[in-house]
Amino acid sequence: MRLAVLKERRAAETRVAATPETVKKLLGLGLGAVAVETGAGLASGIPDAAYREAGAEIAPDAAAALAGAGIVLKVRAPLAAGEGGPDELALIPRGALLIGILGADEAAARAYAERGVDAAAMELLPRITRAQSMDVLSSQANLAGYRAVVEAAAAYDKAFPMLMTAAGTIPAANVFVMGAGVAGLQAIATARRLGGRVTATDVRPAAKEEIKSLGAAFVGHEDEESRAAQTAGGYARPMSAEFLRKQAEVVAGHIAKQDIVITTALVQGRTAPKLVSAEMVAAMRPGSVIVDIAADAGGNVALTRPGEMVVTDNGVKILGYTNWPGRIPAAASALYARNLLTFLATFWDKEAKAPRLPEDDEIVRGVLLARGGQVVHPQFAPAKA
Ligand code: NAD
Repeated sequence: MRLAVLKERRAAETRVAATPETVKKLLGLGLGAVAVETGAGLASGIPDAAYREAGAEIAPDAAAALAGAGIVLKVRAPLAAGEGGPDELALIPRGALLIGILGADEAAARAYAERGVDAAAMELLPRITRAQSMDVLSSQANLAGYRAVVEAAAAYDKAFPMLMTAAGTIPAANVFVMGAGVAGLQAIATARRLGGRVTATDVRPAAKEEIKSLGAAFVGHEDEESRAAQTAGGYARPMSAEFLRKQAEVVAGHIAKQDIVITTALVQGRTAPKLVSAEMVAAMRPGSVIVDIAADAGGNVALTRPGEMVVTDNGVKILGYTNWPGRIPAAASALYARNLLTFLATFWDKEAKAPRLPEDDEIVRGVLLARGGQVVHPQFAPAKA
């Protein structure tokens, strides 16, 4: 069986779905060939030669890479007709297994089914212990949280740690992290390592304990609603307007005293909750920095412009860049590629030297959008009579 790795063509995508390390291991599973499109790794610092050394064939374009492929590895969804590049989806052979962060929705699931492509949307992976090593959202969010703090430090014209010098003392930066999931917890840890004075908020009770265990102080509103804010899947529920109002009351005064605010709050399948209003930003001191990692989902800050840095009239910088893992591409690709390798290795049939995805497996049911020309995902499949 042949496996194809394509160059990512979507805007600002710097990652790649396989590295020389994972190519070697993929070939070790018994694949007949791994074809990597030329230039696929360049934005992550991986030249064609490194893939070739690992045993891959370098294909001159997407069509050549995909010809005869039984498995296709991607970071983002393949381009379709009219998306400003080759129609990658049409080039994927019927019956092939496509694995990536596919931006799963009903229309996408139908498109894969119509093309006869079996599509695994890794962003839908269940958050269970067995799936941790293939969890692309966690590996990427972790790096995003780290990178957000590093970029905040670079954009901040003062220092994170308290600096006591012969010329006097520079105070430590006050850092407030909103949303303490995978990205937020890494942001807390990184900000503390840099010497910031860190506080954080979240709605899930488990997050409050995790904030404290990292040595940060919790700031936030708690009530009956927040005590039940975690879904069985481990995500936050959408909170009521009343809760968000009370939360805003508690954090408004706090935000005014912060030098750095990192926002990471997400609610699965929805636009990001707005947690920082224009008034709150107006009350911050000039030179303060906000990093809104939730910009891909619309942003947690009212003034965020996704993809851009905004400097407000009162001198607050708001970094609303999108694709934060893509801003640390070599590390993000390394972890993402290992996640995909683990997924394939977990469902590998050694005799057939091909993947075997059992229908009744919780992970398979979680990620598979389409199989054998049918939409199979419970969230998107037409209801059975
Ligand atoms: P996420 O990216 O969906 O959300 C980020 C954070 O925003 C979450 O902590 C959420 O509670 C918070 N949030 C949502 N609305 C908010 C609001 N109004 N105010 C403040 N914060 C708000 O979440 P995530 O980082 O992907 O992970 C969520 C949970 O899943 C965590 O508990 C994590 O430990 C768990 N998890 C488990 C596994 C596993 O067991 N395999 C893997 C990954 C994550």
